[in-house]
Amino acid sequence: MTLTHLGTGSRGNATLLETEHAKVLIDQGFSGAQLEKRLGRLNIHPTDIDYIFISHHHGDHGGGAAVVQKRWKMKVQANHRTAEELGLLPELTHNFESLDMIHVSQDLAILPVPVPHSGADNVAFIASHNGGRAAVITDLGSWTDELVTHVRGCEHIAIEANYDHDRLMNGPYPYSLKDRISGRGGHLSNEQTGRFLAQVCTPATKSISLTHLSEKNNQPHLAESTVLYHIDGIFSGDITISLQDGPEDSHYIGRTVHANDAEFVHSKKQ
Ligand SMILES: [Zn+2]
Ligand SMILES: [Zn+2]
Repeated sequence: MTLTHLGTGSRGNATLLETEHAKVLIDQGFSGAQLEKRLGRLNIHPTDIDYIFISHHHGDHGGGAAVVQKRWKMKVQANHRTAEELGLLPELTHNFESLDMIHVSQDLAILPVPVPHSGADNVAFIASHNGGRAAVITDLGSWTDELVTHVRGCEHIAIEANYDHDRLMNGPYPYSLKDRISGRGGHLSNEQTGRFLAQVCTPATKSISLTHLSEKNNQPHLAESTVLYHIDGIFSGDITISLQDGPEDSHYIGRTVHANDAEFVHSKKQ
């Protein structure tokens, strides 16, 4: 399985998961044209996607879902609240329940796990492929024991590192917004992400990508150094930062990549 971020941040999120038998997107916060362009760099057309899984209804995650249902008849998986808020087409939408495993193909299953995020029924997704698991977690102000249980030991963890606490507090946002972002239903700071990762990383964890960095209240080097401080001695794999403009390098989960897997290895076109 490969996981490739097409872009993450407050201006749009989408992540591609690809196995031999399935292609799914997690979130579609881009315009139809942007999605087509970003997938095109990987030689994929929107109609090649089996399902789009939407985490929650905020525009940067689900704002582009209804438009691609209309334009390309793309099939969407979302919980009831998210589907309703986004006005998804019922004939192209499957409503999942949290903690119900969705079998997309013989080699890909996806588990939605609820996470706290104000005013939304947000979920993290755990994708399973040939015994390997990858977690995609974003937009949460805090976490639950249930989330820790499901993410522990995942081979790859993509998680938001939204803001640096000092930058947020000393930055330009009004107090009410600073309060909302840093609250229990807001976003994770670099430090919180580090503390969460310290609870879930095991020797099985091979790679981490930090996503959804605030362009005003964070910097890649701050996110990476703060997170590494918390997982020093626990984690020795690769850590990457996913920014707003992708697609970026793919992560491999569930097996070693051999030469004959070349068809799954994307080369970035300029
Ligand atoms: Zn977001
Ligand atoms: Zn959100």
